[in-house]
Amino acid sequence: MKDTFKHKGLRQKLVETIAAKGIKDEAVLKAIGNIPRHLFMDSGFLDHAYQDKAFPIAADQTISQPYTVAFQTELLQVKRGDKILEIGTGSGYQAAVLCELGAKVYSIERQQELFKKTSKFLPRLGYRPKKLIFGDGYKGLPEEAPFDGIVVTAGAPFVPKPLLAQLKVGGRLVIPVGDDVQVMTLYIRKGAKEFEKHELGDFRFVPLLEDKN
Ligand code: SAH
Repeated sequence: MKDTFKHKGLRQKLVETIAAKGIKDEAVLKAIGNIPRHLFMDSGFLDHAYQDKAFPIAADQTISQPYTVAFQTELLQVKRGDKILEIGTGSGYQAAVLCELGAKVYSIERQQELFKKTSKFLPRLGYRPKKLIFGDGYKGLPEEAPFDGIVVTAGAPFVPKPLLAQLKVGGRLVIPVGDDVQVMTLYIRKGAKEFEKHELGDFRFVPLLEDKN
């Protein structure tokens, strides 16, 4: 679990790369600059950790591309103390970004292997989400709702109704919607039944799957 000057230097370059691609939020850039992404990947992939690319993790899943993580996080407009729900804990990298921003983080993962691994790993790095849950993200987390923000980190074939229902008024849902290619979609809750919808370009994610295993 080493974080060296070399890693820090590579990370600074990564921050410059994603800033050049259009990420403006200083707090998000700072979070990416602080988090040792190489530790979230298997050691065989160390050399790739600071390229702006997605990479395989356990259970046939991926750690999202840093630009994508930054883009989704920027859309959430996280303020310190906000209650944020993530669907798809995976490696825990996105959860770490949310912790760096001072959010109270809840995150759901449907793969037991990843759930167990990441539950142990994040606290070792000093990141303490409020709750990591082994379960089905399609249902959200009704017992902890409402949330200031919800971020889905897998490609959703449709927008699960419970996620919209679990937003505060003023809250934001960031969700990639589609089958082979996903459209990054932002919903802002304007009232009990009123949502504003924005579509923000094409992305590719691993699929959001039904039923945990
Ligand atoms: N946020 C992660 C990205 C992981 S990829 C990171 O930063 O590394 C997407 C993750 O969503 C995978 O780990 C996958 O197992 C999980 N997933 C897929 N369908 C899900 C569901 N219905 N509920 C919760 N998690 C799900």
